[in-house]
Amino acid sequence: MAVVEVRGITKHFGAVHAVNGLNLRSEEGEFLVLLGPSGCGKTTLLRMIAGLEEPTAGEVLIGGDVVNGLPPRVRKIAMVFQSYALYPHMTVFKNIAFPLKAEGLDPEERREKVEWAARLLDIERLLDRKPRNLSGGERQRVALARALVREPSVFLLDEPLSNLDAKLRAAARDDLLEFQRRVDITAIYVTHDQVEAMGMGDRIAVMNKGEIRQFGTPGEVYDDPADTFVATFIGSPPMNLLEHQDFLFGFRPEHFLPREIAPPEGGTPLTYHVSRIEFLGSERYLYGHVYGVSEKTKVIAMLPSTVTLPVAQEEDHEFVVVKGKMRFFDKETGLRTSPRPL
Ligand code: ATP
Repeated sequence: MAVVEVRGITKHFGAVHAVNGLNLRSEEGEFLVLLGPSGCGKTTLLRMIAGLEEPTAGEVLIGGDVVNGLPPRVRKIAMVFQSYALYPHMTVFKNIAFPLKAEGLDPEERREKVEWAARLLDIERLLDRKPRNLSGGERQRVALARALVREPSVFLLDEPLSNLDAKLRAAARDDLLEFQRRVDITAIYVTHDQVEAMGMGDRIAVMNKGEIRQFGTPGEVYDDPADTFVATFIGSPPMNLLEHQDFLFGFRPEHFLPREIAPPEGGTPLTYHVSRIEFLGSERYLYGHVYGVSEKTKVIAMLPSTVTLPVAQEEDHEFVVVKGKMRFFDKETGLRTSPRPL
């Protein structure tokens, strides 16, 4: 395993500034997630770390060594893409052995390594099958095994689960994390899915427009967003943001509660007009607006279904933003500011 670091890394494709002077450093063995909307530069950053894309400026370091200019195969990295790119005419065994053959290992060594990787990923029984006879989850494991046999120091994963259905995806997520912990290899994982990022990442780099807006643990980016972009990109539903005088204040839907069930330490009272209630099984979403501030802004409250609602649709009710859960942002820059009086 190895530390991956980028310093001032930049990539311009003509007028498109895909990545703009990024700095980022992983820990050894960390599961680091690059999260951001489509087009924010995640894949470009990953490809520069892999050596598949030449940076316009800046440095890539793997294990403390600058690797700019070195070809991908000597960087000790393994990449797994969204399309697993397995060879359809080859068996699973041959697919996994392929990079070893390219490296010139003899057949006995190849067999040993393939069996070792197949054992780690629990796919030994699939070695004689062709990829078309595998499920999506199994194909993903084969792709991981093929990446693993080269004994990389770093795994680079670009949305490897995005073509699995929701249920399989949750299971594959668990498998992948468990596997990464077991082999203890630093992993950099690209996704635009914030639920996936929150669930998997030791730390998340939240990106937008070629820049990192915040780098922190899931708890940090959720509870203490550095700006309005992070506040609204992370969390589903997102943080409520209301404009007041020359600033914005925000709170998470689960921290906006009817007065009767708010914690005893209190908080900021707001009169809430509930226009619609949505039942989602384990929880309910309330949609409406508050009186007195930013009345046109939609405000969402989220309550567990186990709580009896003291309010119905088209009614007004006293709600409270739980104490210590209000966040403040500059109206111009969107950056976090210190608390302001309402
Ligand atoms: P997605 O989640 O959609 O894959 P991403 O965050 O991975 O998006 P990138 O693929 O890194 O984003 O692209 C960042 C920007 O750079 C986009 O505007 C994209 O159109 C542009 N871009 C990427 N590769 C090239 C290229 N080879 N030539 C020109 N522009 C490119």
